[in-house]
Amino acid sequence: MLSIRDLVKVYPGPVTALQGIQLDVPNGMFGLLGPNGAGKSTLMRIIAGLQEPTSGSVTLDGEDIIANPERVWDKLGYLPQDFGFYPHLTGRAMLAHLLRLKGVKAKGGMRRLCDGLLERVNLTFAAKRKVREYSGGMRQRLGIAQAIAGDPRILVVDEPTAGLDPEERLRFYHLLADLAQNRIVFLSTHIVEDVAVLCPFMAIIRNGLLVAQTSPREARAALEGTMFEGHVEHDALERLHAAHTVTQAMLFEGRTRVRIYAPDGDAPPAFQPSAATLEDAYLALMKTGADILPESKPPIEPVALPAEELAGGPV
Ligand code: ADP
Ligand code: MG
Repeated sequence: MLSIRDLVKVYPGPVTALQGIQLDVPNGMFGLLGPNGAGKSTLMRIIAGLQEPTSGSVTLDGEDIIANPERVWDKLGYLPQDFGFYPHLTGRAMLAHLLRLKGVKAKGGMRRLCDGLLERVNLTFAAKRKVREYSGGMRQRLGIAQAIAGDPRILVVDEPTAGLDPEERLRFYHLLADLAQNRIVFLSTHIVEDVAVLCPFMAIIRNGLLVAQTSPREARAALEGTMFEGHVEHDALERLHAAHTVTQAMLFEGRTRVRIYAPDGDAPPAFQPSAATLEDAYLALMKTGADILPESKPPIEPVALPAEELAGGPV
C-alpha cells in the first residue's frame, strides 16, 4: 500500500501545486485523473523520491519514502511525463545506458538483462533499430522497460498515453494491465478513457486538491438517473450551457449531440435519460465536488498552509 498524508508542495512564486493530499493506493492499477496543472506530475515526482514536498508524508508498505528515498529506489520504477532518449542509439543501447545510469546491477550481463526487458515490452523486433525510428508507442514501451528493471514493487507512470494513436494506446493498456497484476501501478492522466479502461480505483485531482477518491463504477453509479441526452441546433448551445451542466457537446453525424447532468431531473424537453459514462462523472465531480458520491468515505479537507509558505518562504 502506498499512503500519502497531508502532502503539500509550494514552489517559489509561490505556486501551491499540492494543497494537502491524502491518498491510499492499493495493489493493482490506480488512476490519478486531472486536468493540466492539477499537480499530477508534482505528486509523481515526490512519490518517485525525486522532489521533496514542503510538508507531509509518503510511505510505501510502511517505509518512509521522503526520509529514506534511497531505501525505496530499487522498489520503484518511474516513467516521467517527458522522457528523453538519444535518437542515434539503438533501443538496446539506449536501454543499457539508462540502466547503467540507474545503477541497475545486471547479474547475468547487461545484454541479457536488456534483451529480457525488451521482450517483456514487445520490442525484441526493434532492439537494433535506432530510437529515432521508434513510434511514440515504442518509445513509451522502451520507457517502461527501464522502469520495470529490477521488478519494482511500484510503477509510477506519468501521462504515458498522451500522443499515442488508438492502436498504440490499446497495446500500451495491455502492457500496463499485465504489469499491474502483482504490483502497484500508479498512473496519471488527463484522458478519462485511460482510467475507464484500466483502473478499478481512481482519484480526481484539481488545483492541488483531491476532488474524490473513488472507483469508476461508483462514480458512474452516483450519477444514475441524472444524465440526459438530446440533439440541439448549434446556436442553442450557449443557452443550454447557461441553464444546465453540460458534460459533453459533440458533433455526431452532422448534428450537435449534448449530454446534460441534471440531478433534479430538470432536462430540456425532448432530452432522453441516458446511462452515465465515466466522462460524465468526471465532469460532474469536477463541477460539484465529491458530494454526489455516497458518504462512505470521509470528505477530504485541504490542510491549512503555514502563512510563511503562502508568502513565498523557503520551499
Ligand atoms: P500536472 O502534471 O497535473 O499538469 P504539475 O504538477 O506539472 O501539474 O503542475 C502543478 C502546478 O505547479 C502548475 O501550476 C505548474 O505551473 C506548477 N509547477 C510545476 N512545476 C513547477 C516548478 N518547477 N516551479 C514552479 N511551478 C511549478
Ligand atoms: Mg504533468
